[in-house]
Amino acid sequence: MDCIFCKIAAGEIPSHKVYDDGLVMAFLDIAPVNPGHVLVVPKEHFSSLLEMPDDLLCRLAQTARKIAPAVLEAVGAKDFNLSLNDGEAAGQVVKHFHWHLMPRFKGDGHELWHGRAYGPGEAESLLAKIKENMPE
Ligand code: AMP
Ligand code: ZN
Repeated sequence: MDCIFCKIAAGEIPSHKVYDDGLVMAFLDIAPVNPGHVLVVPKEHFSSLLEMPDDLLCRLAQTARKIAPAVLEAVGAKDFNLSLNDGEAAGQVVKHFHWHLMPRFKGDGHELWHGRAYGPGEAESLLAKIKENMPE
């Protein structure tokens, strides 16, 4: 498969790997938002969170928590974002599931999203639709 993260997993192209336990790896993002921006990635190819097996997803979360203190300490940060771009409209460029672990500093200039209020009755009707589709 022509997937850059599969190639990194297979050792076919180089990366600055900070962690690899055979199932999950983490390496420095090539274009970091801040120094220490790391990608936490399953070694097997899945494109979406929705396709990830539960046990691997747990392992990924455990890995993010395990490596975060070392990454933060190395760059002198105490705060971070852990974020996912899932699908093209959400900004996913590499179609191999990955979390961005990004150290944050006060005033670093990276903006999060802007919210807007729901209109009258909008939240209630949306809630009803979501509940209709919710698995047991
Ligand atoms: P996304 O938009 O969530 O798919 O993010 C893809 C991320 O992968 C971007 O932040 C890129 O900078 C990063 N990236 C792409 N190629 C490489 C690579 N060879 N090594 C490390 N990071 C990469
Ligand atoms: Zn892949």
